[in-house]
Amino acid sequence: MSHAADTAVAHPPQVPPTRYGLFIDNAFVEPSGPGYVDVDDPATGEVWAQVPDASVDDVDRAVRSARRAFEEGPWPTWRAADRAAFLVRFGQAIGEHAEELAALQVRENGKLYREMYGQAKLLPEYFTYYAGLAQMPAGHTNPLHLTDIINYTVREPLGVVAAITPWNSPLLLLIWKLGPALAAGCTVVAKPSEITPVSTLRLAEIAAECGLPPGVFNVVTGLGQPSGTALTGHPEVDKIAFTGSTATGQAIASQAGKSLKSLSLELGGKSPNIVFADADVDTAINGVIAGIFGASGQTCMAGSRILVQDEIYDRVVDELARRAEAIVVGNPQDDATQMGTIANQAQLEKVLHYIDVAKAEGARLVAGGVPATVADLPNGLFVRPTVFADVTNDMTIAREEVFGPIASVLRFTDEADAIKIANDSEFGLAAGVWTGNVQRAHRVAGKLRAGTVWINNYRKTGYATPFGGYKQSGVGRENGPDALHAYTEEKSVWVDTGQGVKDPFNPRA
Ligand code: NDP
Repeated sequence: MSHAADTAVAHPPQVPPTRYGLFIDNAFVEPSGPGYVDVDDPATGEVWAQVPDASVDDVDRAVRSARRAFEEGPWPTWRAADRAAFLVRFGQAIGEHAEELAALQVRENGKLYREMYGQAKLLPEYFTYYAGLAQMPAGHTNPLHLTDIINYTVREPLGVVAAITPWNSPLLLLIWKLGPALAAGCTVVAKPSEITPVSTLRLAEIAAECGLPPGVFNVVTGLGQPSGTALTGHPEVDKIAFTGSTATGQAIASQAGKSLKSLSLELGGKSPNIVFADADVDTAINGVIAGIFGASGQTCMAGSRILVQDEIYDRVVDELARRAEAIVVGNPQDDATQMGTIANQAQLEKVLHYIDVAKAEGARLVAGGVPATVADLPNGLFVRPTVFADVTNDMTIAREEVFGPIASVLRFTDEADAIKIANDSEFGLAAGVWTGNVQRAHRVAGKLRAGTVWINNYRKTGYATPFGGYKQSGVGRENGPDALHAYTEEKSVWVDTGQGVKDPFNPRA
């Protein structure tokens, strides 16, 4: 891995962290200022890398590179078949580096190696899918009210895309943007979270090794302020594709409104996972655990509100508490570990804060609720899987996104009550329905105000199906057959085949 800045960034032998540069024009380059951000391993507390805290000038340099690559080509004018061939090649290279990319992400965010490796192994298929989409017909010939006129539409690449990503699944959430953006012929400046920047830098390096022209995929690193805001406010950025918190999404949308940039936002959630009394309860409990304790609950789609029907409420609470207490919290690299770390200190404090708030508001703690100690990792950021029973939907713990392993169990009486509670949220990202009744399953799915509904399963996503939120959970959709549209402008072209301009003051004549 040749990751250091090409212009000999200082790397004194006694300082263990590796220093990276910004990635612009297919090369690591030094930042304009002296500031660097530490990247630490949440399992050990060790600082193992440093990345530039990009300045406004650095961001400008990256955006100008992307603009040049867009205006002067050749990327946007490559044949779709050639862009597709690159995407397949890039995907294959990612597959070949799956172990390395998974290990980097685990070191950045402390998620389980086996989850990150599974994700990395699947990434090539995203590129195969987008390679296919790149070659699909991209316009229409439209029937008209006029004779002797042909009208057709074309979809053109939108321009320079700012891709801003969070720390929970750094590469997957980037590829949801990068795949369709590149397939459409756009150029990209990515800004990863300062907590997880190294995997994104490595991805850009792999893209360059696969023959992507310079400037098509640049990476700026650093804090949301100033690099994120410099990027979203840059006049040469045409589109912002963002995944992260609702608060940051709102700030970005306000800023983007001033220049009317195209925008897609994938934001937070407080997703209901609804267990009806007629469900296969053992399977449902597995799904509930996957929904809230998978990835230590640090996913936008976490099933954090568990709605359980009266008849089975006590049984489900008891079983959830028992299962939560048995979860193996530990080193994310170990195969036996079921839950890794919380990704950073601020997030750990946030999780512990919400535990205190839930107790103070009267929720009944039935499992966890404390930091976890892990032998050999005394500095690790661990918390025990936590279950609160007797949560009501007006409690803070039921309304705000925690982004951690805290399950809130609420009680409902019947189907109408479940739907009412589920929809009583400012979020609308996802929902789960557990029932053995097929009519009920579809009926409830139809009434839930959420971008994704899982019936008798939870936490599945894929390149072929759209993902995004209702309400404050976002704007637009990522993935699925229309993914490319979000990275194109549609142009309508009118061609006169003989009618001429008969009446200059009546365009309908
Ligand atoms: P943020 O939404 O603050 O950050 C997401 C990305 O946006 C990061 O790359 C961040 O940079 C960048 N950013 C921050 N502020 C701005 C800005 N004003 N303009 C442009 N870019 C900006 O999430 P955090 O990582 O700080 O996590 C905070 C909370 O967000 C979590 O506790 C969780 O509740 C939620 N979250 C939700 C996610 C989801 O998928 N829905 C994903 C991650 C977090 P940097 O990190 O370098 O400051």
